[in-house]
Amino acid sequence: TPGSEKTFFGHPRGLATLFMTEMWERFSWYGMRAILVLYLVAAVLDGPLEEREALAASIYGVYNAVVYMAAMPGGWVADRLWGARKAVLVGGIVIAAGHFTLAIPSDTAFFAGLALIAAGTGLLKPNISAMVGGLYEGQPSARRDAGFTLFYMSINIGGMVAPLVVGYLGENVNWHLGFAVAGIGMTLAVVQYVLGSRHLGDVGKEPGTPATPEEKRNALRKVLLWSGLAVAALALDVVLGTYDIEHIVNVLAVLGIVVPVVYFVAMYRNPALTADDKPKIKAFAWFFATAVLFWMIYDQSGSLLTLFADGKTDRMIGGWEFPASWYQSVNPMMVIVLAPVFAALWVKLAQRNREPSTPMKFALAMLLIGGSFAIMGLAGAAAANSETGKVTVFWLLSVYLVQTIGEMCLSPVGLSLSTKLAPKQFVGQIMGLWFLATATGNALNGWTTKLNEPLGDALYYSLWAVVAVAAGLTFMMAGKKIRALMGDVR
Ligand code: GLN
Repeated sequence: TPGSEKTFFGHPRGLATLFMTEMWERFSWYGMRAILVLYLVAAVLDGPLEEREALAASIYGVYNAVVYMAAMPGGWVADRLWGARKAVLVGGIVIAAGHFTLAIPSDTAFFAGLALIAAGTGLLKPNISAMVGGLYEGQPSARRDAGFTLFYMSINIGGMVAPLVVGYLGENVNWHLGFAVAGIGMTLAVVQYVLGSRHLGDVGKEPGTPATPEEKRNALRKVLLWSGLAVAALALDVVLGTYDIEHIVNVLAVLGIVVPVVYFVAMYRNPALTADDKPKIKAFAWFFATAVLFWMIYDQSGSLLTLFADGKTDRMIGGWEFPASWYQSVNPMMVIVLAPVFAALWVKLAQRNREPSTPMKFALAMLLIGGSFAIMGLAGAAAANSETGKVTVFWLLSVYLVQTIGEMCLSPVGLSLSTKLAPKQFVGQIMGLWFLATATGNALNGWTTKLNEPLGDALYYSLWAVVAVAAGLTFMMAGKKIRALMGDVR
C-alpha cells in the first residue's frame, strides 16, 4: 500500500511525488498568467490603452474559465477511461507543449499554446487532487486535511516563484523567454512524476467505473456534436463579420451557469447514487455556489488588481521600479506562511471542540473576501485623490493578506471536502466540479470586470464587498441545514 514505505513530513511518500508535480505545474501556470494580461495589452491587442486593458481583462477571465472548465471532462476521462495516473501524465506533457508553443512569437502560436495549456490542465489539475485524496483512503479525516494543506503549499511555492522569474524575464527581457521558462518547469515536473510514480501504490491506476463501449461511443458523439456546433457558430460569426470577443465572453458566462446546473441535476438523478449520497450532493451544491462568488472576486487579482498595480501603485524601491507582475507572488507567499498556521489552528480548536464547521469556514471566507474588496475600494479612492494618481504598495498588500486568510478558510478545505463528499466512482468528476466553481466565477468576471471602468474603483470594489458580505451572512444562517445534509462528513 502507499505509505508503508518512507514518509514525507509524516505523510505517505507518494504525496512528495504529487507535491513536486503540482508545484511545477502551478509554476508554469502562474508564471504564464502573471504576464498574460500585460503581454496582451503590450503586444497583441490594438486600440486605445483603456480599451486594450478592458479587453485583456475579459480575455483573461474567459481564459481562466476555459481552463478550469476543462477540469470537468478531465475528471471524466480519469474516472471512466484512463485512471487518474495516466490523465495526469498526459496532461503534464500537453501543458509543457503548450508553454513551448507560446514561446514561438506569433499570434497563431499564442492562441494554440493557450488551447494546449487549457486541455492539459483539465487533465492534470482535478486528477492530481483526487490522487492526493486517494493516498488517504480509510485514514482519519483530519489527516487527510493535513495532507491537503501540505499539497496546497506546493501549489503556492510554484505560484510564488513563478511571477518573480517568469514575470521578470517576460516584462524586462522578452515575453517569449518568459513563456519558455514556464515550459521547462513543466517538463521537469513530468520527468519527476514518471520517476516518482512507483511511490503511488495503486492510486489512480484504474478508472473508477470504466465506461462501456456504448458509453464511449455516446460520449464521443456528444463531444463531436457540441464542438462541431461551437466551431460552426464561430465560423458563421466570423463570416458574417459580426465576430467580437464579447460573443465568446457571453457564451462562456452562460455556459458557466448552465453546465453546473445540468451537471448537478444529472448527478443527483444518477441511479448509481445511494440514498446516503444524495443529500451530500445537495450540500456540495451550496459549497459550489459560494465558491463561485469567492473565486469570482478573488481571481480579479490577475486582471483588474494587476492593472491597478501597474498603473496606480508606487513601485519604486531605491530608484528601481519592480515589475507589476511581482504582486502576484504576494498571495502565494502569504499562503505558504499561513497554511501551516491555519492547519495547526484548526487542530488546536478541534482539541477543544471549537473548530468551526466547514459551512462556517466558508461563511468566514466570504466575509473576508468582501472585506478585502472594501479595502480595495478605499485604495481606489485614495489613488483617485492622490496628486500622482498612485498609492503605496501597502494597500494591495493588505488586500492580499485579507484575501489569503479567506482563502485558507475555503480552498484547502474545499479540496479535501470534495474528496470526502464524492461518491468514490465520481471523485475525478467531483474534483472537476469543484474547479468548475472557479470557472464559473471567472466566466462571470468576463462581464463584471467591465463595470470597473464606468463605476470607478471606489464604487466598483465596494459593490462587490457588499455582495460578498451578504453571501457570507446567508451562508452562516444556512449553516445548520448544510451540516445536516453532509451526514457523517466533517
Ligand atoms: N490557488 C489555488 C490553485 O492554484 C486555487 C485555485 C482555485 O481553485 N481557483 O490550485
